[in-house]
Amino acid sequence: MRILVVEDEPDANRFIARGLREQAFAVDTAFDGATAIEKAHVNAYDTIVLDLMLPDMNGLDVCRALRAAQIASPVLMLTARGAVPDRIAGLNAGADDYLTKPFDFQELLARLRALLRRQPRLENPVLCIADLEIDTLHQRVTRSGKVISLTTREYGLLAYLAARRGAVTGRADIAEHVWDETYDPVSNLIEVYIQRLRRKIDDGFETRLLHTRRGEGYQLAAEDQAYA
Ligand code: CA
Repeated sequence: MRILVVEDEPDANRFIARGLREQAFAVDTAFDGATAIEKAHVNAYDTIVLDLMLPDMNGLDVCRALRAAQIASPVLMLTARGAVPDRIAGLNAGADDYLTKPFDFQELLARLRALLRRQPRLENPVLCIADLEIDTLHQRVTRSGKVISLTTREYGLLAYLAARRGAVTGRADIAEHVWDETYDPVSNLIEVYIQRLRRKIDDGFETRLLHTRRGEGYQLAAEDQAYA
């Protein structure tokens, strides 16, 4: 899942971005409203964390501009402590939720996950494909009860495919939602990571779950649902 963090204070921006990357999110950053709007036009963010006070424009105006451009990414607004009118204005401007500064990172994470879970396929925090279980709250993956150890990026890729389980996901979508803006589209990173992931979740098991659909992309599905 890919997140845009819009916050002009460098330390706060770095803190949020680093914390989210540790949780296997792909993270882009913006330090002003104009850049945020530009990036949101180019990339399909799964959520945007948007500070209310930005140097060039107000977070509310950023939010309105996104909604006016039909950009539907959920927005989590960061507001000052106790500023009730700000929160109401944020929700009216099209934000989906707000968080009061200063906040605990765990609360930011919980609210982000709640926003992501509004997607119908993600209602349950534990995603299952046959005997493969992905606990998205604890980033814990097991197959037939056996713990599978993944790197942050491998986990991010698996969680994205699991959120789209049964569907064939193309390379462009994977690049868009699993990698950040530093991704080089001519690299073969996706193939490399798919191979690593396949080795970890499929090797030693009778049923293969991670399928390559030639010319189309990749699919995480139990064999019998693979072509459903
Ligand atoms: Ca600010």
